[in-house]
Amino acid sequence: MYERAEARIDLAALKHNCAELRQRVGPDVELAPVLKADAYGHGAAHCAAAAVEAGVDRIAVATAREALQIRAMDPEVPILVLGALAPGAVETAVIAGADISVWDPQFIGSVEAAARAAGRVTGVHVKYDTGMGRLGSFDPEVVLAVARSVAASPDLRLEAIWTHFASADDPDPAFTNLQKSRLSELGERARAIFPGLKLHAANSAAVVSDATTHFDLVRPGVAVYGMDPFGRDPAAHNLRPVLSLHSYVATVKRFEPGMSAGYGRTWIAREPTTVVTVPVGYGDGVRRGLSNLGEVLIGGRHCQMVGTVSMDNITVEVGDLSVSVGDEVTLIGSQGEETITAEQVAAKLDTINYEVTCAISPRVPRIPSGERE
Ligand SMILES: *Cc1c(COP(=O)(O)O)cnc(C)c1O
Repeated sequence: MYERAEARIDLAALKHNCAELRQRVGPDVELAPVLKADAYGHGAAHCAAAAVEAGVDRIAVATAREALQIRAMDPEVPILVLGALAPGAVETAVIAGADISVWDPQFIGSVEAAARAAGRVTGVHVKYDTGMGRLGSFDPEVVLAVARSVAASPDLRLEAIWTHFASADDPDPAFTNLQKSRLSELGERARAIFPGLKLHAANSAAVVSDATTHFDLVRPGVAVYGMDPFGRDPAAHNLRPVLSLHSYVATVKRFEPGMSAGYGRTWIAREPTTVVTVPVGYGDGVRRGLSNLGEVLIGGRHCQMVGTVSMDNITVEVGDLSVSVGDEVTLIGSQGEETITAEQVAAKLDTINYEVTCAISPRVPRIPSGERE
């Protein structure tokens, strides 16, 4: 390993996941993987290129800057900005040639002005809040009114009405069904006025669990990266993890009873043992909550993190395992038969897999497969 820590990004796995999702939705539903937050920490540029190679229809992002980044990489691919745009960001999104999400009648004017100034007819997806209680309008009449204004503008193109599920990962489908029926009902009315209007709703959990949520376009995020939207085992849905996180053994030390490792002396050896220092810490996104709790793989074996996670280092007890300076340490991923998944790390931290990969900081280089020796 060249760097102290690296995140390896398996683009073949990402393509496999796109193909798996395509198979689930069929050829007629648009596949729009979500590459927000630097592709959930995986690195948006190489992930976007791989997704395009896998034949996706468009790329969804949350922000104008993210849209611009994707556009810099690919002059053609359709882009959809899902998130709210601050006044200064509208122009950026329009110049990136992205479609924009709108729900506020007041906001149409600024999108229209930006589109006119850029000389670019801009696609609009009108957001209907069917129960997420976040962005979008709760009122179907407001949604229809916004759609009418968009359709009437020569600078805008009405593309879709869409919503977002609050609990598609819940085993009880009642609330998702309610949200789905709200979108269907309004969609039926809207399509009578605007033929060809698209509807969309599905995130990863919905794509995987309920084909009736697919409508005309799906927006899977976490599943594209081979993580399980239900926080369990991605293999259960034929998804392959894309990211693995590695570092190496920087020192190997023999500890006698009473000796401690790390800040605050939160771990003290009770018997003679061996402790290694691995140069990766919370400054790299290995959360401090894993202190005395997390595990890593060394030599194909699970080893316990001991002591406090510091900014640049962790300490790991290897006991009687034969370990040398330079040995590879895997924090997420596999060695031999053993694996640590982002889902398992998340469970220890009482959070979700999404947060585990998003937390990996910019200090860690993302190395796409094929570029690594
Ligand atoms: C992030 C996001 C998604 C993707 O969600 P996953 O659970 O990662 O599949 C889809 N739609 C919207 C609006 C989002 O913000």
